[in-house]
Amino acid sequence: MADRSLRGMRLGAQSLQSEEGVVFSERTRSVYLCPECNYETALMFAADAEAPETWECRHCGHEAVLMVGSEPIVIDKSDQKQARTHWDMLLERRSREELEELLEERLSFLRERRGLNKKVGA
Ligand SMILES: [Zn+2]
Repeated sequence: MADRSLRGMRLGAQSLQSEEGVVFSERTRSVYLCPECNYETALMFAADAEAPETWECRHCGHEAVLMVGSEPIVIDKSDQKQARTHWDMLLERRSREELEELLEERLSFLRERRGLNKKVGA
């Protein structure tokens, strides 16, 4: 405290402590709670940037989780483990035979269209 007021008096004219005239870009404060050591890591992100869901804990290096209000967000890890591709999901909805049929349909449509375009171009 003593240091601070001393510095304030000495450098008052240069006004290092004043934010007057300084334009700050808008920022939001994001807090990450570490499940390992309970340390909270606070970070500032530009207001229009989306804060990542996790951040490395500054205390122990574990993965800290973004807090929303007083609760950490829920990260669905089951999704990451299974890591279904679009192809997997497609196969769940359609059999391979159906897909081949669709592909064949699509291909003949494209061939037809290409044929038409050629005629138009010529
Ligand atoms: Zn930690």
